[in-house]
Amino acid sequence: MNHRHLLPNEIDLLVDGDAGFGVGPLRAHLAECADCRTRYDELRVVSEALESLPHHTPSLRFSDRVMTQVQVIEPWHVALSESAARLVPASTPMRVLAGVGAGLAAVTISGSALWLAFRADLAGFVFSLFIDRTRDSLVAGAGEVATSALGADATATLATGGPALLALAAGVLATTAVAAVFAFRRLAATARATRE
Ligand SMILES: [Zn+2]
Repeated sequence: MNHRHLLPNEIDLLVDGDAGFGVGPLRAHLAECADCRTRYDELRVVSEALESLPHHTPSLRFSDRVMTQVQVIEPWHVALSESAARLVPASTPMRVLAGVGAGLAAVTISGSALWLAFRADLAGFVFSLFIDRTRDSLVAGAGEVATSALGADATATLATGGPALLALAAGVLATTAVAAVFAFRRLAATARATRE
């Protein structure tokens, strides 16, 4: 004796005429329980009504027409790995070349950044020195002004030289970065052309 009512999926099994293992006890419960029999009968009416509808299959182009309206969103990591995979050349010599190029670009960029940081530090030091000297010369007496001015001139030359060097370094860094990007694009294009 089954002490619980049938679950929706169990009634589905009975309506579908499933003859698998375990259907026997379900049928036994159906014979004893008016509640479950009512639900079973209702579901069978719906099922038979559906079966009586004319069967038709959608045209072959239907799914294509639907999919043209669906925007398939590519996960960002898939897009990223595909772009990265496209950048890697197919042939071994090209891969070695690209690897060497990437290494050189990395070393150049890091070196330039380090050098730039060092120059910025030096320029800052020279600038503060120049400020100190100028203030000292303002405080000092008229006799000392001339000597201090000479010193200030020397530091001023250094201070103007600093930013110029800084600009040059920044230019070298930017040129290297742009050249690296163009080199990679060229490599990738060549590799794609070889593959296709
Ligand atoms: Zn029941």
